[in-house]
Amino acid sequence: MASSDKSSAAKTTVQKDDSQLRQKRMIAEHFTRLARAPETGEKSVYTFVPGNLTELLRCFDLLPVLPEINALQSAMRGKSKAYIALAEKLGHSEDVCTYVKCDLGMMKSGNVGPTGERLPNPDLLLLSYTGCFTFLKWFEILRQEYDAPIALLHVPYQADGKITDAMLRYVVDQLRDKIIPALEQLSGKKYDEDRLKELMARSAEAEDDLVWVLQSARNRPSPIDAYFGGVYYIGPIFTAFRGSPEAVDYYQTLRSEIESRLEHGLGPVTPDGEIDEERFRVVVEGPPNWTHFREFWKMFADEGAVVVASSYTKVGGVYDFGFRHDPNRPLETLAEYCMGCYTNLNLPSRVEMLTRYVLDYDADGLLINSIKSCNSFSAGQLMILREVENRTGRPGGFIESDLVDPRYFSAANIRTRLESYFQMIEQKRSEAVA
Ligand code: SF4
Repeated sequence: MASSDKSSAAKTTVQKDDSQLRQKRMIAEHFTRLARAPETGEKSVYTFVPGNLTELLRCFDLLPVLPEINALQSAMRGKSKAYIALAEKLGHSEDVCTYVKCDLGMMKSGNVGPTGERLPNPDLLLLSYTGCFTFLKWFEILRQEYDAPIALLHVPYQADGKITDAMLRYVVDQLRDKIIPALEQLSGKKYDEDRLKELMARSAEAEDDLVWVLQSARNRPSPIDAYFGGVYYIGPIFTAFRGSPEAVDYYQTLRSEIESRLEHGLGPVTPDGEIDEERFRVVVEGPPNWTHFREFWKMFADEGAVVVASSYTKVGGVYDFGFRHDPNRPLETLAEYCMGCYTNLNLPSRVEMLTRYVLDYDADGLLINSIKSCNSFSAGQLMILREVENRTGRPGGFIESDLVDPRYFSAANIRTRLESYFQMIEQKRSEAVA
């Protein structure tokens, strides 16, 4: 690399830090606000990432708390093992989703969130039921523990791979007749649709920038890792910040950093530095492991393997095929958003999506990380793998781990399988050349 390029690289690393710092600050401020809620009187609503109604909550000045995010943050801080052990001691089976047990263990240990501050008890449990039955059971348990009311938005599964008018009406009617009145009662404020429209216009702006960033991985080398790096990029938009000016700023900053990386022909930044040579491009299906996140990422980076697209970065919303929150149809697009998130898609739609990713991002193949805890992702994955292999003619790989239970992360096993997978890709390449 020429010296001017090197100085540019240093500059872009600093710029990347800008977006990371900005995100860190946003999260810290949110958790501080939550910790102070008992004194300030602000109300908190526990809700889930897939199909979340963040703009609607913000419209009533309510504070979202996302239990899955707290669970994964606990895992990244090495706390999930003890929390899960406590939940199992209290009688929750080894087979239960480990996000649930981690959350319960955290609650029973004082409900201290990722920033070290105590989370407030929920004033409402808002369940947007999107493709995962565990969500229902999880909130049943929380209702017993907190004696908090539940508002349930039933979201029809996309069994036939499309959203019909009847499905749309069904969700919009629930939003208007059940969810909004519940939020009005909790907040003591009237529903203000003009305010919701303003929030949605900001959502769409941030969504445009996020999609640009994710699609930058079509370039060679890809300037991003769309799985390990991608989980940071989706953070604000899938959690408490969609619709906020901070989210718009964050995604503008992120986009300009990636534009700069692209301009200088740079690959992704990993926790151990930049990837010098992009040797493999893969699409990954399934959530990451959080207990050994850095070690897991390094296994890819050491091989020069870059993830160019992933299904996990669509778990809180699929934006890259054109969906945006639309201020002109606020309740309708909220309904479409809930029905369109990844875990609410049927298996043929998932196969279609992953096939497009492999081809559009010119990947070497599809790799599945099958998560023990999560049936919403894992059911049907072997069929998906074979089908995508058949349609693309590119080899698939399969590894297994868990979300937040460190007992199910076998580093040696995963490394061996990854090495075999990358060798298989190389072999296919040499056969194609011969
Ligand atoms: S089973 Fe999967 S989708 Fe459902 S709560 Fe657990 S991790 Fe989330």
